[in-house]
Amino acid sequence: MEHYIEKNLKCIKEKIKLAAIKSGRDFEDITLVGVTKTIDIEKIAILKKCGIIEFGENKAQEFLQKYDEIHNCNWHFIGQLQTNKVKQIIDKVYLIHSVDNLKLIQEIDKRAKEKGKIMDILLQINIADEPTKGGLKFQETKKFVKNILNYTNIRLKGLMCIPPFQENPQNNRKYFKKMKKLFIDINEENKDNIYMEYLSMGMTNDYEIAIEEGSNMVRIGTAIFGKRNY
Ligand SMILES: *Cc1c(COP(=O)(O)O)cnc(C)c1O
Repeated sequence: MEHYIEKNLKCIKEKIKLAAIKSGRDFEDITLVGVTKTIDIEKIAILKKCGIIEFGENKAQEFLQKYDEIHNCNWHFIGQLQTNKVKQIIDKVYLIHSVDNLKLIQEIDKRAKEKGKIMDILLQINIADEPTKGGLKFQETKKFVKNILNYTNIRLKGLMCIPPFQENPQNNRKYFKKMKKLFIDINEENKDNIYMEYLSMGMTNDYEIAIEEGSNMVRIGTAIFGKRNY
């Protein structure tokens, strides 16, 4: 019998495909990151068997445990990252989505240098200006980008946001539009220095809208694994 994870995944892929077409793209243009926080190894292994190799974790400790058990995949760090944890994860993560301050940039650059690695990062934008959420202020992002161009072991690859949960996900469309515009502007203004590749936005509740508005990386947990208990 088909496992529910496989069934959920098929359904999500179908929706991604339709949303991609609506925005003039293909399914292949969208990266699906399976958000595995709080999910146990057996279930992550099932998702991997279904062909997903991009996994998102939001806590360093939990990530490190899973890293030891699941191999041949790309780990995305999507949670708030404390500077004192950077050293432990730097050589193990594929992309850090949640960079939002200069101290963190400096620490990532330093630790990446030690490992002889260039670390790919996204800047997290606090797109709805929520006091409880991390992320750069929208208005300050362009200036921030100029300030980080000189860090040689960091490569800015794009932007990420976590807009508010909405009963009606259409209410997030305006935020996704703003993100897309910022993404294009930054790319244009810094053509010679960076290539913005990923626009990481859209979760279980709003990924279709996010894709319609230009997201090319969605981070989905609940729709794959079901509701988290903790
Ligand atoms: C938990 C989490 C997700 C996934 O959320 P779902 O609603 O379960 O799809 C995506 N991004 C971040 C940063 C998260 O912390």
